Amino acid sequence: MLNDADRIYTNLYGWESFSLNDARKRGDWDNTKDILGKGRDWIIEEMKKSGLRGRGGAGFPTGMKWSFMPKEVKDRPHYLVINGDESEPGTCKDREILRHEPHKLIEGALIAAFAMQAHTAVIYVRGEFYDEASNLHKAILEARDAGLLGKNAAGSGWDFDIILHRGGGAYICGEETAMLESIEGKKGQPRNKPPFPAASGLYSCPTTINNVETIASVPAILRRGGAWFAGLGKDEKNTGTKLFCISGHVNNPCVVEEEMGIPMRELIEKHAGGVRGGWDNLKAVIPGGSSCPLLPKQICDTVLMDFDSLRAVQSGLGTAGLIVMDQSTDIVYAIARLSYFYMHESCGQCTPCREGTGWMWRMMMRLVKGNATIEEIDQLLDVSKEIEGHTICAHGDASAWPIQGLMRHFRNEVEDRIHAYRKAAKAA
Ligand code: SF4
Repeated sequence: MLNDADRIYTNLYGWESFSLNDARKRGDWDNTKDILGKGRDWIIEEMKKSGLRGRGGAGFPTGMKWSFMPKEVKDRPHYLVINGDESEPGTCKDREILRHEPHKLIEGALIAAFAMQAHTAVIYVRGEFYDEASNLHKAILEARDAGLLGKNAAGSGWDFDIILHRGGGAYICGEETAMLESIEGKKGQPRNKPPFPAASGLYSCPTTINNVETIASVPAILRRGGAWFAGLGKDEKNTGTKLFCISGHVNNPCVVEEEMGIPMRELIEKHAGGVRGGWDNLKAVIPGGSSCPLLPKQICDTVLMDFDSLRAVQSGLGTAGLIVMDQSTDIVYAIARLSYFYMHESCGQCTPCREGTGWMWRMMMRLVKGNATIEEIDQLLDVSKEIEGHTICAHGDASAWPIQGLMRHFRNEVEDRIHAYRKAAKAA
């Protein structure tokens, strides 16, 4: 279990104010100028040493991502875009940072922008996050008043400011290139890659897009050193601390900061009060937000919560949003409900996603009743494979994986339902 001394987010639950005054007492903005004074190369090297992987879901190494930006600013300005669109079902960690620790994010934005030679950062906040945007806005104003933003930000000699951009509530705007389109005032639809944002991003300028938790973790990492962060976690590829969101059939749903690689069972039992009705009443857990394939209890018994351990069991850490389902869950309907979500949120640009998500949802709804044939399960899996990897963005994959996970672990339940439906129809 994580020592309190190693916690980055000490006001995660809002027990203290988010104001600059209180944030400073918690250590935020402490010698930021000295950190910047160590130079860009030192910052990027230290981030690489820390092993921090992006906290938005993909898990790409942060220091490496920063190093992809052009070394010199030429004819186009550099931008930092911070993804606060947090819309993945089961995920509610960035909102706690925005509400209760906005100064960590603002300070992290200054450091990251300095390292990539950006004078401007855009923080894109999900449209539904009213309090979060409001608190962040107040914190930005406070930082400006205190000289931490603006000309010669924090006395560093670097001019830097933040634009707060509120989204309209579309899930797909959490996809990084759709977010860029949205900021530019266009329809939020993902772009084809390449070009990647580091070459041509916001307004066709070099841009890095990072998640809120990733950027908010930066000041603590640089203050304590990359080696400190790398010393936490399971191994050198799964380092540091992580915010986990635990929801569903647990006694105490919560967001908690823990060490990367903590056993799932320990995480749920120590922090979320355990599964409703006890651990043996567990049916399955979606470990990383709704797009990650579910895991049945026998895997949950021993699996560790980190990128590679979850990948090894054909799922993923994603956003670390655990959705816990006990034995009372209609697992087929639960996944059908997710299919509806992905159908609804498809931006409609590519045919496999636009048409396929609807097909999958309709087939899933028939499987919920059992009104299908056994062969249709394989047809559904075929459709999911035709979508996976054949679309512009990862939304297609995200719509396919929950269904593939269901069939991998609970196919017998789906088949039983079909047999029961047929039996009942025959009897009638
Ligand atoms: Fe849009 Fe879906 Fe294609 Fe992504 S995969 S670009 S959401 S249609």
